[in-house]
Amino acid sequence: MFEGTMMDFPLTTGHLLERVRTFFGAGEVVSRQADRSIHRTTYGALYLRASRLANALVRLGIRPGDRVATLSWNHARHLEAYLAVPSMGSVLHTLNLRLHPTELRYIATHAEDKVVLCDRSLLPLLEKFVKDVPTVKHVVVIGDDGEVDASMLDYEKLLAKEPEHFDFPTLDEKSAALICYTSGTTGNPKGVVYSHRSTVLHTMAVCMNDVLGIGEADTVLPVVPMFHANAWGLPYSAVLTGAKLVFPGPHLDAISLLELMAGENVTMAGGVPTIWLGILALLDESPKKWDLSAMRRMAIGGSAAPPSMIEGFAKRHGLEVIHAWGMTEMNPVGTVARLRREHAGASDAEKLAVRSSQGYPVPFVEQRHTSDTGAILPWDGKSMGELEVRGPWVVKGYLGGEGKDRFTADGWFKTGDVVTIDAAGYMRICDRSKDVIKSGGEWISSVDLENALMAHPAVLEAAVFAGRHPKWDERPLAAIVWKKNATATEAELRTHLEGRFPKFWMPDAFIVVEQVPRTSTGKFLKTKLRELYGEMLMKPGVTSP
Ligand code: ADP
Repeated sequence: MFEGTMMDFPLTTGHLLERVRTFFGAGEVVSRQADRSIHRTTYGALYLRASRLANALVRLGIRPGDRVATLSWNHARHLEAYLAVPSMGSVLHTLNLRLHPTELRYIATHAEDKVVLCDRSLLPLLEKFVKDVPTVKHVVVIGDDGEVDASMLDYEKLLAKEPEHFDFPTLDEKSAALICYTSGTTGNPKGVVYSHRSTVLHTMAVCMNDVLGIGEADTVLPVVPMFHANAWGLPYSAVLTGAKLVFPGPHLDAISLLELMAGENVTMAGGVPTIWLGILALLDESPKKWDLSAMRRMAIGGSAAPPSMIEGFAKRHGLEVIHAWGMTEMNPVGTVARLRREHAGASDAEKLAVRSSQGYPVPFVEQRHTSDTGAILPWDGKSMGELEVRGPWVVKGYLGGEGKDRFTADGWFKTGDVVTIDAAGYMRICDRSKDVIKSGGEWISSVDLENALMAHPAVLEAAVFAGRHPKWDERPLAAIVWKKNATATEAELRTHLEGRFPKFWMPDAFIVVEQVPRTSTGKFLKTKLRELYGEMLMKPGVTSP
């Protein structure tokens, strides 16, 4: 090999920390606190507090490679842990506060967490499992209000005792930086360990103009939780570029978010579709109430963004949605639905179709899809198969060696998403393999039906799932949430769907619900719907269209 003569400079989070201090010390970090008040700080102040935190953790016995967990909402102190823990050579494990205590116990034990930094408001949850996690030596309580139990430590008091200087070490870029667990809807949650290298490369990719496009002039609002897949890398992207950060704390209702977006002149926000459906409904009700003129784009992903929502934001409110796909197993952004030059002359409908696909891969992510027998499928926009990915921020194995069946012999990760890919490389998710509906051996896309139903003016949310059927094995059932003061008849919904889909795709029943049950990360929880309604067609004599 004729070697290059360039430096082996490690890609580590420590560089982000030094950079933000050196160049963007005055940059703002704004957090909404539990009591709804607004907390303001700067990156400069945050750097010093991250140094204090690193000193405190060393004093508590945390060594390189040790796991430090957080049980926290999105706020500046959570960012301190994001910066200090990996940069000192330890590993940040963000616990998902929406999980059941038994799952949290399992995850914290599996990750061997030694210290947990926990928001005061989440102590009741922590107390349900932490005593059963043998590795946990200290609980540190984050909050300003009141005394902390003698068995625990107070975050502020702990930091106050420490010096504002910490010698952040030079680390190997391949060393572990963060751990996130998959949601575990099938089997136990599995740990994914992001390296410094994967995190830094992902951060840079997220900032690219054609990915989420983040720069110093931006004000970024990560609605997506920091406990879920690193909030899509948004906090690190803001730190890298010096963008202003705005954190919503625990207040994720549409009104609180709209207030923050307008009040802080947010230019870029990211979150799952269920959050944005609520925001769109509110904007439709009171279009003039919030000034969102600073907003340049809203990244929506985590589950399929309905085209009617993308169009509604654009046409009625002049707001651009960027649809993105990703997974915990990949740091997490994989593909983004950006228009390209070739779409310049396309009709509005064609452009919407592209923008509501899951998009094409971001640089360094590679994709392919395969049939049941493992054959690689053509990119023809029709052939459906399981999406496989590889790249520098794609998992190569789960923590503890679990889930070996998710990796192919030739080095690809099997996503569990059933997709088509068109000739231009745009990927479309038809379903997660566990949500696929098979009626009489024929496959029905729940996502397509949901998108069509959510385009009906009376429908706020629609989740289509498989009901067991005596003759056809499975038939589609639709759970529907009406918009405020709106409703439609079943016949109207059927007419709305007719002509768009083959007749056998028509749901057998429409079930009106108050709210579609959600997963811990705000996606529609179809397993719960199946549990509640999945047997309703099993009565004798039921027939289908
Ligand atoms: P969870 O298992 O809690 O949903 P992940 O965030 O890792 O955790 O889920 C990744 C999965 O979410 C993907 O495999 C895919 O099924 C789904 N997903 C993510 N983004 C999109 C999107 N834009 N459209 C459709 N599905 C998506």
